[in-house]
Amino acid sequence: MFDILNFIDVKRIGGDHKSGEMKDFVDACCSQKIADCQISSWLMATCISGLSDDNLLEFTSALSESGKTVSFPFEAVDKHSTGGVGDKLTLLVVPIAASCGAKVAKLSGRGLGFTGGTVDKLEAIPGFNISLSADNFVAQVEKIGCAISGHSSDLAPAEAKFYALRDITSTLSSVPLIASSIVSKKVAGGARSIVYDVKCGDGAFMQTLESAKVLAKKLVSLSKAMGLKSVAVISDMSQPLGVNVGNSLEVIEALETLRGHGPSDVYELAAYCAGAMIYLSGNAPDLNAGVRAARESMGSGAAIGKFQELITEQGGVKDLCESPLKYLKAAPLRRVVECKEDGYIASINTRDIGECVKRLGGGRIQKGNPIDIEVGVRVLKKRGDKVSKGEPLMEIYANDDKKIIEAEPYFDVFSIGKTNDGGAQDLIFEVIQ
Ligand code: URA
Repeated sequence: MFDILNFIDVKRIGGDHKSGEMKDFVDACCSQKIADCQISSWLMATCISGLSDDNLLEFTSALSESGKTVSFPFEAVDKHSTGGVGDKLTLLVVPIAASCGAKVAKLSGRGLGFTGGTVDKLEAIPGFNISLSADNFVAQVEKIGCAISGHSSDLAPAEAKFYALRDITSTLSSVPLIASSIVSKKVAGGARSIVYDVKCGDGAFMQTLESAKVLAKKLVSLSKAMGLKSVAVISDMSQPLGVNVGNSLEVIEALETLRGHGPSDVYELAAYCAGAMIYLSGNAPDLNAGVRAARESMGSGAAIGKFQELITEQGGVKDLCESPLKYLKAAPLRRVVECKEDGYIASINTRDIGECVKRLGGGRIQKGNPIDIEVGVRVLKKRGDKVSKGEPLMEIYANDDKKIIEAEPYFDVFSIGKTNDGGAQDLIFEVIQ
């Protein structure tokens, strides 16, 4: 008989659980035998004292097996971002990698906190069906080489229960809990190899390079223990990725980049992450060759062609890639944030840009809120850029004057220095395999 009080006690004093106990715990939670306050108590103890590698592996396996699982008759690859501001990479890497022969089974989520989510962005495309059944998900990857679906509640349901409790008990920021949350969902979704884009900076959950490295290493070692191949790319989130932040705006920018006309940071990071997916899926001999193949796919038009195929297959409009502005528009009310002095951009408060878009209606203040796909911002300057007084730094797009007033406290996001100390910095800090 599973003894929850003893189980919590062990973790409270920083001990390890015995083999089999993690699975018993997850099973007991699923069959409603454990009260939420008891689960939360264990979560907090784990947040403080951590989990051994053996316990983490058993916990992750139990979460991944707590509901239905998807399986592919081939090796499917997925990519996961730990979340950032302006992160539209999924819209690029899925078609790029698929156009280079990878079988991409992408499970995506909605926006969380100040970060955006792929499901919300794809809902900006008229007709696009983001909720594929497990059978249709597998069949589509088999047919065209890629599919993107929202996480179904049937997959890893225990993880969803833990996640919801972490969200309201301040236990989100625990490396083993984050790693088990991410990896269990990917395993349940059928992927055999995964590229992790671990964001690092004030616009990410991991704010320092040290903490991002700890998470990246844990994701890779846990994936290996679960029998998955993986690569973790630690990338910059001390400024938004690209220019556009907001759902329709980000789809527009993704399409521009797939055509080769988008911002260079979006292009470079997409080529790198897609290159890693191409390599992991066995379609390139090494990572560099994968990156080269990804660039060629954007240059030749193969990637954008594959994106339209994916959109059409999932019920979206058939000419989105040809005529994006027919369907995707920015909200009509405009505000421009101007520079107050001459100098250089020393830093950008990226988290506040995410909060600003959320207040404009582009994200959720409360769970389940509808979102406004047309609102957002265009961030016109990057760190290290020279600026002059009166020059536009950021454009705001809104549908409602009241929302502009709510978002206004988040407009002042640029710090200006007299010298160029904030300089441009690396887009990719480290790659862990
Ligand atoms: N993303 C997840 O899926 N889980 C976490 O715990 C944090 C970010």
